[in-house]
Amino acid sequence: MAKDYRGVWVFAEQRKRRLQDVGLELLGEGRKLAHKMDTELGAILIGYQVGAFAEELTAYGADKVYLADSPALEVYRNEPYTRVLERAVMEHKPEILLFGATATGTDLAPRLAARLGTGLTADCIQLDIDEQGRLLQTVPAFGGNLMAQVICPKHRPQMATVRPGVMGKPERKARRAVVQALDTSVAEQGAAVRVLETVVMPEERGAALERADVVVGGGWGVGGHQEWGLVVRLANALGGEVGATRPAADEGWASEEQMIGQSGKVIRPQLYIAIGISGAIQHMVGVQEAKIIVAINNNPAAPIFKEIDIGLVADFKDIVPRLIEEVERRRAGEEAAG
Ligand SMILES: Cc1cc2nc3c(=O)[nH]c(=O)nc-3n(C[C@H](O)[C@H](O)[C@H](O)COP(=O)(O)OP(=O)(O)OC[C@H]3O[C@@H](n4cnc5c(N)ncnc54)[C@H](O)[C@@H]3O)c2cc1C
Repeated sequence: MAKDYRGVWVFAEQRKRRLQDVGLELLGEGRKLAHKMDTELGAILIGYQVGAFAEELTAYGADKVYLADSPALEVYRNEPYTRVLERAVMEHKPEILLFGATATGTDLAPRLAARLGTGLTADCIQLDIDEQGRLLQTVPAFGGNLMAQVICPKHRPQMATVRPGVMGKPERKARRAVVQALDTSVAEQGAAVRVLETVVMPEERGAALERADVVVGGGWGVGGHQEWGLVVRLANALGGEVGATRPAADEGWASEEQMIGQSGKVIRPQLYIAIGISGAIQHMVGVQEAKIIVAINNNPAAPIFKEIDIGLVADFKDIVPRLIEEVERRRAGEEAAG
C-alpha cells in the first residue's frame, strides 16, 4: 500500500492572508526530505483569495502548490479544512504530510490523521529518512530524558507536526509556480461551527522572544524577584528580550509566555545568555538553534557548561552588574560618537 504514495507535502498555513513562517520553515525541511526520497515537494494552501501566495511558496522550495480556494475556507474551521485535506490526500496520495504545531496545525492534523487512519507524531524536533525510505521523527520522550525516534511503517501518509522556529527558513529563490487546484466542493457542504467574530489579541510578549536577536534567560539560580531585575536590566541594556526556565516562570519572576524549552518557546537568537540555569534537556531544546550561548553559573559541574560556547563560573550577582555597566558605557560612547 505504501508504494502507491509519493511526495512530501507541507501545510502552508495562512492566517488573515498572511503566510505563517512555520510553513516556510517546513518547506526548507521538506525539500531535504524530498531530495533524499527523490520525490516532489508540494505545498498545501487553503483559504479564500490566497492564490497569489503560490509564487512565494514556490520561491521557498515547493515544486507544486495544491490550492483550495473557496469562501467557505476563508477563516480556519476544523471540519471544512479536514474534509478538503482528506479528499486531497485520498486523490494525490502524498507519502509524508507536515504541519506546523500552531493552534491551527495542532487542531487540524490529529483529526485528519484519525480520518485517514494513519499515525501522527506531534512536536518533532528533527526529521530524517531512514535507509528504508521511512520518515524518522524525533521527539523528546520521558520528560525529555531521551530522544525517541518514531516511525509509521504500515500506514500512509506519515504525518508529523513541528513547532514554529525549530527548523530554519530556507533561502528564497524566485521560480515560476505550478498550481494544482483542489476540489473544494466538500468544504461547502456546511459545518457545525460558524465564526461569528474574530478578536485579535495584542501581540504577546512571547512572539517578540521568538524573533529576538539577543535573549537573556534566567533560571532558578537567580533566586528571587529582586534579583530578577538584573536579568531584565541586562536584556534591556543589550536591546534584547527576557526568557526563563520553567522554575523561574513557576515562581512568577517571568510569565509563562517567556518560558523557553520543550513546553515553552523555541528561540533562535544570535546570542543567548543563560543566567543561573543548569542546562536541563527540556530547556536546552528551546535554545539549540542559538548562534552563541553564554552561561553564567556558580557550579563548574553544571551540565550547561557542556553545551555552550562561552562559560563563566561565577555568582551572577558579581558578574551581571559589571556586564550591564560595561554594555551601558559602550552604548553611551557609541551614542556620543553619533
Ligand atoms: C515534561 C517536562 C517538560 C519540561 N519543560 C521545560 C521547559 O519547557 N523549559 C524549562 O526550562 N524547563 C522545563 N522542564 C523542567 C526542566 O527539567 C528543569 O527542571 C528546569 O529547566 C531547570 O531549571 P533551572 O535551570 O532554572 O533550575 P536548576 O536546575 O535548579 O538550576 C539552577 C542553576 O542555577 C545555578 N545557580 C544557583 N545560584 C547561582 C548564582 N548565584 N549564580 C550563578 N548560578 C547560580 C545552579 O548552579 C544551577 O545550575 C520540564 C520538565 C519536564 C519533566
